[in-house]
Amino acid sequence: MDSTGSSGRLVVVSGPTASGKSTLWRRLVLHPQVGFSVSATTRQPRPGEVDGKDYFYVSNERFQQMIANGELLEHAMVHGCYYGTLRSEIQKALHVGLNIVLEIDVQGFEQLRQSGLPMVSVFVKPPSMEILAARLRERGSETEEQMARRLSIVEKEMAHADEYDHVVVNDDLEAMIQQVHDLLGLEMQNQS
Ligand code: 5GP
Repeated sequence: MDSTGSSGRLVVVSGPTASGKSTLWRRLVLHPQVGFSVSATTRQPRPGEVDGKDYFYVSNERFQQMIANGELLEHAMVHGCYYGTLRSEIQKALHVGLNIVLEIDVQGFEQLRQSGLPMVSVFVKPPSMEILAARLRERGSETEEQMARRLSIVEKEMAHADEYDHVVVNDDLEAMIQQVHDLLGLEMQNQS
């Protein structure tokens, strides 16, 4: 519940790697009615990423402990590393805004769907596999081996798109971001 008495909801954003979902997430969280949750992961930080801001970077051992303690609302192994949503983060974020945007993979979404929590879900599709591969190459943050692994599971992820409330195609980033704000009934915020 927020100060106006409305219930909060989760906004799940999923999509293949380099689909534009992270950019969408960054823009959504600029909105005053949007809160976010920092996930835990066993992946190593990328250059520029900050512990506690981008993710909580934890050891495999600590992650297993979190699962055992019931600290995670959902978790999944993605691209060889663990990722999970902390219950404490969701509780905290519910006080911040009506919409809590979670950028999680399709496996995590399946678990959340079963939780019965109020949510709206959006799947972001790249315009084509060729464009997705080119975007990933431009990003340059993955080794060839990591990239091949990511691309190999993209098709599997895409097969889940229909399970989401909304599917948007990122052939024009700004238009896609506007479309998602409209779907959520949010006014788009200026970037600062
Ligand atoms: P990246 O390593 O590029 O930051 O994220 C890789 C994948 O992990 C993305 O598909 C992202 O949506 C997913 N992911 C990030 N955080 C979570 C989480 O808390 N739970 C789940 N299930 N997936 C996550």
